[in-house]
Amino acid sequence: APVILWLRRDLRLADQAALAAAVASGAPVIPVYILDDDTPKHRKMGAASRWWLHHSLTALDADLRALGSRLILRAGKSDDVLCALAEETGASAIHCMRHYEPWWRNAEKAVASGLSTGCAFVCHDGNYLLPAGSVTTGTGGQYKIYTPFMRALWQHMPPPVPLAAPAHVAAPHTWPASEGLNDWALLPTEPDWSGAMADMWIPGEAGARHRLEDFADKAKFYDEKRNLPSVAGSSFLSPHLHFGEISPAACWHATMHAGGSVDVFLKELVWRDYAQNVIVQMPEYGAKNARDAFDRLPWRDLSDPAVKADFVAWTKGRTGYPIVDAGMRQLWATGWMHNRVRMIAASFLVKHLLIDWREGEKWFWDTLVDADYGSNSVNWQWTAGTGVDSNMFVRIMAPLSQSEKFDAARYIREWVPELAGLQEPYIHDPDEYGARPKSYPRKIIGHKAARERALKAHEVVKS
Ligand code: FAD
Repeated sequence: APVILWLRRDLRLADQAALAAAVASGAPVIPVYILDDDTPKHRKMGAASRWWLHHSLTALDADLRALGSRLILRAGKSDDVLCALAEETGASAIHCMRHYEPWWRNAEKAVASGLSTGCAFVCHDGNYLLPAGSVTTGTGGQYKIYTPFMRALWQHMPPPVPLAAPAHVAAPHTWPASEGLNDWALLPTEPDWSGAMADMWIPGEAGARHRLEDFADKAKFYDEKRNLPSVAGSSFLSPHLHFGEISPAACWHATMHAGGSVDVFLKELVWRDYAQNVIVQMPEYGAKNARDAFDRLPWRDLSDPAVKADFVAWTKGRTGYPIVDAGMRQLWATGWMHNRVRMIAASFLVKHLLIDWREGEKWFWDTLVDADYGSNSVNWQWTAGTGVDSNMFVRIMAPLSQSEKFDAARYIREWVPELAGLQEPYIHDPDEYGARPKSYPRKIIGHKAARERALKAHEVVKS
């Protein structure tokens, strides 16, 4: 009897424990990807992620074919589809990698209870440095805060040496029917906004490997360069890691001996694990303030047209704050934004515009190619100060001085062409210097006024 390999955000052949187990069973393997918009609490994948998924599945199918296999595509509620496929093929087991989004945990439970007795269901680890929930405090409790979590996890590093991809994947005598990828219509059509994304990214395992090889040489300079938006100082691995096209263990092993400030990079990889650790403890993290007191904060109301206009200006990169606008336009064009600029842009929405972080989280969910339930909600709640860690709300970032401090002029020129002719320091704050070209908007709110409004709104949180 064949075994089923259920693929989700683990679209790779190397260091893929579920694939390795399926191959080791000696049975024919049926790799299946299910487009699931139906499992309860499922967050429908955003538009940029769908673009990525289309290309990643195309690459994975080609890679599987090179090993004598192929990818079967089905759409629907994961447990219904898998149980039916197990029945149809007489499979003896389903292997998958474990995932922690609340909907995937629901789906895993539903599959385990829905399968008939002849079919085993096995979840494997390896999409994270360690299984979420496995790093515990001295008394067996869960960590809520990043730093102690990181220190405890660090004791278990390095992760195991990554597994090589199998040389061959045995095919069944007959393949079950597959839906057509093009019929899923994951790619944008009119308008097709994916041009700059296609220029920047190569979704799939080979693209991920290239990024890692390229970064391994630069990893020692990570700390000096990662905060400079004008420089490509980070790894650009986030969408590849999100879709599981490369394992974190592979990233760790390729860089751990780089020297310099590579530990700073490895600690960022731990943030990824940390975020999963948070959503396992608080599955509603993407929708609920972790600090209840923030439920009282009077966010501005998006049904008011003036507030809506501010929100739209933020999404389109027309706030009059060049660093924010450059970031938001980079996001729209490429599906990615520099981390420092994500912090500045997110803080601007929440504090300068006093708009609920959940609106920003949703926008990022739709537009990021690395949109990740855990990482996105943890970082938004961190920026907003509503999260499990320290209350950051009153630390109001000044976008204009951040722009100067992190030397963002070249970045702004690239993404805000209206300002391309401006020199420093004018480019950081054209309004203030009287250097604003007509085509570029006025600041939608002054820094001082915004700061005062935010701090006043925050008073109800303190009381
Ligand atoms: P590098 O600096 O090279 O870091 C290596 C890897 O570590 C990243 O690929 C990522 O997997 C992980 N990582 C780094 N920083 C973080 C972090 N703060 N939290 C969790 N993981 C991290 N990252 C996402 O992957 N998905 C998201 O949806 C997401 N949303 C964010 C929202 C906000 C408001 C902010 C401030 C940050 C968000 N991040 C998110 C974190 C971070 O910005 C990106 O992971 C990073 O910019 C990706 O670029 P890189 O791969 O070059 O990162």
